[in-house]
Amino acid sequence: MDKELLAMLVCPLCNGKLKYDREAQELRCHYDGLAYPIHEGIPVMLPEEARTMDADEKLHTSTGRSPGSTPGHSPGRSGGV
Ligand SMILES: [Zn+2]
Repeated sequence: MDKELLAMLVCPLCNGKLKYDREAQELRCHYDGLAYPIHEGIPVMLPEEARTMDADEKLHTSTGRSPGSTPGHSPGRSGGV
């Protein structure tokens, strides 16, 4: 994926910035809890094509993690690289 292209992409629903998940090949909007798929390098920015993330995924993708307050401590976080 082109980084400049990624930087331009926003959620079609809320115009919020998307987070690119390289492993999953998805662009995630944690405001709406949707993950837009990337097919062969082309992001599919259609809400009807997007996958609804579950609450746990939303936690992982949410920005601004605050040190000290981690109520939902998750054991064995995956994708360290
Ligand atoms: Zn959104």
